[in-house]
Amino acid sequence: MSFSALGLDPKVLQAVKEAGYTEPTPIQAAAIPPILAGHDLIGIAQTGTGKTAAFTLPMLTRLAAVVGDGRQRGTCALVLAPTRELVLQIEENVKAYGKHLPLRVATVFGGVGENPQINALRAGTHLIIACPGRLMDLMQRRYADFSQLQYLVLDEADRMLDMGFLPSIRQIVRSLPPKRQTLLFSATLSKEIETLTHEFQHAPKTVQIGRRSNPAETVTQLVYEVPKSLKTALLVHLLKEPAMDMVLVFTRMKHAADRLARQLEQNGVKTATLHSNRSQNQRLKALKDFKSGVVSVLVATDIAARGIDVDGISHVVNYDFPMHVEDYVHRIGRTGRAQAVGDAISFVTPEDHGELRALERFIGRGIVRKRAEGFNYAQVVPHVVEDRPRHPQQGRGQQRGPQRGQSGGQQRPRQASSHPHPRPPQDGRPQNGGASRPQSGGGRPQQPVSGNREGGNERHFPSRPSSYGRRFSPR
Ligand code: AMP
Repeated sequence: MSFSALGLDPKVLQAVKEAGYTEPTPIQAAAIPPILAGHDLIGIAQTGTGKTAAFTLPMLTRLAAVVGDGRQRGTCALVLAPTRELVLQIEENVKAYGKHLPLRVATVFGGVGENPQINALRAGTHLIIACPGRLMDLMQRRYADFSQLQYLVLDEADRMLDMGFLPSIRQIVRSLPPKRQTLLFSATLSKEIETLTHEFQHAPKTVQIGRRSNPAETVTQLVYEVPKSLKTALLVHLLKEPAMDMVLVFTRMKHAADRLARQLEQNGVKTATLHSNRSQNQRLKALKDFKSGVVSVLVATDIAARGIDVDGISHVVNYDFPMHVEDYVHRIGRTGRAQAVGDAISFVTPEDHGELRALERFIGRGIVRKRAEGFNYAQVVPHVVEDRPRHPQQGRGQQRGPQRGQSGGQQRPRQASSHPHPRPPQDGRPQNGGASRPQSGGGRPQQPVSGNREGGNERHFPSRPSSYGRRFSPR
């Protein structure tokens, strides 16, 4: 099937062509016709399937008719999404696909100044893409006028529920005109999502592409069984492989992400971190550096990484085994996107075996076990790892074996000062055989998740007396 058979507006088709898309993905082929026909829609699709374009393209087609002649003054479309990062990604998509339309678009989310957002709402910007929390706040203060609204999209509805946005969403939707088209996208169709669809939608059509328990077919999954104390050493060892040039590493907790990043840096691996304790600017910089190749590794927590859409991620590494099986599918969905082939690597310690079995049941298949070639599984690693320089005579490692540094003497050959496998800037390279994400005007960097919303999936430990030092994997 070609895009031109779907009935999209010629200006939208032109933009799709310029984005390099040759044919619609399955969710696009299934969702675009009923949306264009005016139906409410439930789209069950995991991230990486092209679901953003699945709702954006038909919505822009329908908006083209009203914004084209300048008649439309008020806000006619609202997209709600769980995280700032996802909001910005949707904006990037909308701007790319709507670049030949006189469409005004604005974003609304917390953690940044509200004045531009208030101005955009007051000006009746055609399309608003928002996180529910900040939008609710501004609506309560009567800055928004949605009396002209015709289209509502709830993207990643399951995640919005997970993050506790239901009350805000209910309040927002209650104040919208009842006569509208409502599109709901979710990775799963749970009871809660069904309740939501009954509440907000009218006779919706359902399109379902794959099940959430099916990781993308293009992802090669591997398990490395490794003692907890050797996880960092194993990661450093694997990162010597030149193909691992753009690696997203997951830890369960924020402080574990920071600690791992420091350890990788100590081993000469340029690393950035993405989690909610980092400031907005730090997070933006981390993503920018990762995308441009200034750093080759991005260490992230689950919620912070939600919705990351960076082309060309070569590998996802589950340094800490995911806490929920669904998180596994989300995590590894960061690679193998849009037909690119990527590898998902999970470190499994003896403590993780039960969770691994549960995961294999969930995804309905076993995951191949691999042993890292040339890695010394018998090495002894000092138990306590400090960030500050330590005297070799100090600490528990001395009682356990020779002090070889935290990577067990496996020094990374990379230069700390430059990227080991330089790659061209993302904007300029052919990406995924032409299936790359379109870049909006200024190549605006993507933003990660809202700090104050994150943490639901992360465990917090009471702070320990400093004499504890820092230890490996205090899960
Ligand atoms: P999404 O599931 O919306 O996050 O999209 C995942 C990736 O697929 C993004 O990088 C999109 O730019 C890309 N994409 C969307 N539609 C297509 C298409 N028809 N052909 C190739 N890539 C696409």
